[in-house]
Amino acid sequence: METTGISWPIIIATIAGGALSALWVFQDGRGRDYNPVLWAVGCIFSALTVGLYGVLAVLVAYFILRPRGELLICPHCSKKYIYNLAFCPHCRKPVKKECLKCHDLMELDAETCPHCRTRTA
Ligand SMILES: [Zn+2]
Ligand SMILES: [Zn+2]
Repeated sequence: METTGISWPIIIATIAGGALSALWVFQDGRGRDYNPVLWAVGCIFSALTVGLYGVLAVLVAYFILRPRGELLICPHCSKKYIYNLAFCPHCRKPVKKECLKCHDLMELDAETCPHCRTRTA
């Protein structure tokens, strides 16, 4: 019997790798507000067209291009978001408040503005 047919383990590994990478990139990209749908579709597309090496290339590109910065935990939904966002990308609730005097952003629980030291109400 010839075994020149389709190699199922490789196909399954490719699809699983692409799907897992897509899920991870979607979560991470969402927290960083960085085109999560586009990158997830890119993972699946490269898995279907190129294979696992394509997925790997997309992941490497994502690591290089994604916005860098600390991830904080949203006080409303406990998911991660990148520090410089004023609204949680997951639940859309505000995670920062605006200073009435200098209009810079500060933490929700800050008592004085870290930029101009005005006390918040
Ligand atoms: Zn949230
Ligand atoms: Zn201020």
